Amino acid sequence: MNYESTRGQSAIVSAAEAIKKGIAPDGGLFVPTEKIFINLAEIQDLCSLSYLERAAYILKYFLTDFTKEELTECVERAYGGGNFSSPEIAPVKKLTDNSTVLELWHGPTCAFKDMALQILPHFLVRSLKKTGETAEIVILVATSGDTGKAALEGFADVPGTKIMVFFPEKGVSAVQKLQMVTQVGNNVQVVGVQGNFDDAQSGVKQVFSDLGFSALLADHNFQLSSANSINWGRLVPQIVYYFSAYADLVKGGSIKNGEPINFVVPTGNFGNILAGYYAKSMGLPINRLICASNTNNVLTDFIKTGTYSRNREFYKTNSPSMDILISSNLERLLSELTDRQSDKISQWMAELKNTGTYTIDADLLKLVQGHFWSEYATDEETLATIRKVWFDLNYLMDTHTAVAMHVLEKYRNATGDNSYTVVVSTASPFKFNGSVAKAILDEQTVSEKSEFELLKELSSYTNWPIPEGLRNLDHLKVLHQKVIGKDEIGKAVKEILLG
Ligand SMILES: *Cc1c(COP(=O)(O)O)cnc(C)c1O
Repeated sequence: MNYESTRGQSAIVSAAEAIKKGIAPDGGLFVPTEKIFINLAEIQDLCSLSYLERAAYILKYFLTDFTKEELTECVERAYGGGNFSSPEIAPVKKLTDNSTVLELWHGPTCAFKDMALQILPHFLVRSLKKTGETAEIVILVATSGDTGKAALEGFADVPGTKIMVFFPEKGVSAVQKLQMVTQVGNNVQVVGVQGNFDDAQSGVKQVFSDLGFSALLADHNFQLSSANSINWGRLVPQIVYYFSAYADLVKGGSIKNGEPINFVVPTGNFGNILAGYYAKSMGLPINRLICASNTNNVLTDFIKTGTYSRNREFYKTNSPSMDILISSNLERLLSELTDRQSDKISQWMAELKNTGTYTIDADLLKLVQGHFWSEYATDEETLATIRKVWFDLNYLMDTHTAVAMHVLEKYRNATGDNSYTVVVSTASPFKFNGSVAKAILDEQTVSEKSEFELLKELSSYTNWPIPEGLRNLDHLKVLHQKVIGKDEIGKAVKEILLG
């Protein structure tokens, strides 16, 4: 299996090369050159395997330049050894007769980013060896909060790498910020940016596309790479849990093998739900992928109308990891659904960059709508959903998961489709405890308490333990205090690396 750029102007590369580079030299994203099919008998076989075995099984189709032993080793280092707080890694929990929650937050940072970022460093270290790379790899990360910490956890002290994380200084929760600025490791840098996530992401992308800068870095034996979901190595481990959830439901008797089900996914950069699309395109029986947005509903409008427009107000919501107006991975979907019409993709992406908007053709929109459906939830609807699910179903959701739950209700009301549906849960309720506490505790208990006091309140009220990664955060030493303007990311990278 090889990889080509969505923009068609870069050489075709191996998986190792795609993972090492992160983004294609022409500014496009790497996508697989061939289609993969997995039949129902294979899905049946997955039922009796562990998560680790399922992961090795799916990954081998995409990372063909890795040996079976290498993949098994990567999988074991990422998901084995008690690294995840659930032995099932990504357990499904029944909600109602026709819905279940897929919990993707049992990794060290309590959000779904760990599913990919615990394994990416292991892919990368092996990719460097395979491609004969001698330069030190510099991982640049733009984060809306969760990717940053997950990438830092994954890459801290990994030999041959440095990692720099840029986060919107005022756009992340207190817990998220402390998770990042207290990160230890001799190869880590964490920098606040005076701007929003899109500013940070655009700044980082600009550094990647500056060929002169890359040449300068190469002279100093550095090579840039990405841990954002633009990196194929981030996306491919996410395909696994769609298959794994389906296998668990078949195994548990909730569905029959072959029965089409829906997944509703809280969506920001379109990475998670795109992995679901790849699973569907490989033959996993998925009816609809329901794209759940918050008030930054750029994807909802796109899926309804075919016009993508980031020319709109940016809102800070109570599901901050989805506060995004430029969803990078949509480019991959458009490339897949147009059978790699790279001229068109390049044109739309240029329009997006220059004018902030583009419109796809009517027949392409039909294709998009055949696979996806979308709606959004406001902050109030999100809190009301957390409350309702807690009191009616005795399940505690974080804000992002609640966005998905609310959108599922809208979907069912709008379409009458009551097929079995998996609600993809992307964060522990303790990670966004401020909002979660507000939703289920009385005002007196919540008022004037810090996020850290609220962690304890939530824990004693629900009898759920505070996850290890969030305990004692407020007592750790702050190690990173640098804050820069939104146009200074390139300058900061240069200063950090070259002095
Ligand atoms: C990153 C994140 C999302 C959005 O996922 P994408 O792959 O960017 O669409 C949703 N919820 C949480 C908690 C996240 O950390």
